Amino acid sequence: MAGEPQADCLFCKIVAKEVPATIVQETDTTVAFRDINPQAPTHVLVIPKAHYPDAASLAAAEPGIAADILREARAVAVMDDIVDKGYRVVFNTGTGAGQTVFHAHAHVLGGRGLNWPPG
Ligand code: 5GP
Repeated sequence: MAGEPQADCLFCKIVAKEVPATIVQETDTTVAFRDINPQAPTHVLVIPKAHYPDAASLAAAEPGIAADILREARAVAVMDDIVDKGYRVVFNTGTGAGQTVFHAHAHVLGGRGLNWPPG
């Protein structure tokens, strides 16, 4: 059923605390944890506890939780004190865009200058 945990999903296992992660924030609907391979001084992933394969399917099914992700992304930036310098929120969607984990997640990146366009 849509949103239910998937046995083979890494991020569902992080939500269930079956796989360790450096969790920095948790709400009723979201978990935020530091990326294992950080691309910037701040690199945090904000994920819904519910399983949806990407941000678009999450937003279609649970727009309130999609909004929660954006609010928690800002809370991460506040926590890491990167709001004034600017930060980036990225949803890689699809293999061609670099998505490797098919459980919706926002990358929150900051703490250094960020180029545009991204690679
Ligand atoms: P994607 O490439 O799907 O947009 O992002 C997946 C992210 O998950 C990558 O930045 C990758 O470094 C991160 N990642 C993959 N496995 C783990 C893990 O076991 N723990 C943590 N904290 N991050 C992970």
